[in-house]
Amino acid sequence: MSESTISGAEVVRWIQTYASTIAENRDYLTELDSAIGDADHGTNMNRGMSAVIEKLDGVTGDDIGGLLKTVGMTLVSKVGGAGGPLYGTLFMQMGAATAGKSELSIDDWAKAVDTGLKGVQARGKAEPGDKTMLDALGPAAESLSQAAAGDSSLDDALSSAARAAEEGMKATIPLVARKGRASYLGERSAGHQDPGATSSFLLMKTAAETFAGSG
Ligand code: ADP
Ligand code: MG
Repeated sequence: MSESTISGAEVVRWIQTYASTIAENRDYLTELDSAIGDADHGTNMNRGMSAVIEKLDGVTGDDIGGLLKTVGMTLVSKVGGAGGPLYGTLFMQMGAATAGKSELSIDDWAKAVDTGLKGVQARGKAEPGDKTMLDALGPAAESLSQAAAGDSSLDDALSSAARAAEEGMKATIPLVARKGRASYLGERSAGHQDPGATSSFLLMKTAAETFAGSG
């Protein structure tokens, strides 16, 4: 077990950095969604994360669980379609897993991501390999659980999780979608990277970058 932890202030910074990363990748995410969906994933996520930033004005991060719950509830209320409720569930469940905590160990973070993932699974009923955001989050959660059980440093655990998410994202390209709008395309959904897996990879990448050097 590593001794370094993630502070509440860093969790606030992670959310802020994710919001700016989504803004920078808005057009890219929408372009991915135009190939196999309805061309709104970037605008949806950007609308949601902009609302989150307004909500978080002045929030310190003393209660990480409360903060993540607020992020999730804001996404659910501001973003329509599939992505909003699914990302809302992800953050709300991460919040439930970190209730009352003011800092997170690698174990806490691994549990939070795993709880979030299970929430998305319960809500969207997708399985691994269905070409969804789960295909990036699942490998990241798995990698974090292994790191938490071993003796990786927090930095190594976070960067391995981001790499696992990136591989999972790229692995969605040949898949045929079985959930969400992309599934309406059947075989024609193959050959395109899933937009939700891409925004989920960006979430794990932002975590690795923001939490690097913690403790
Ligand atoms: P919509 O599909 O309603 O337009 P978005 O474009 O914002 O919503 O989000 C699309 C993404 O949502 C997909 O790329 C996929 O990753 C994810 N998604 C869709 N349905 C599901 C599901 N049932 N479970 C998990 N993720 C899903
Ligand atoms: Mg869409």
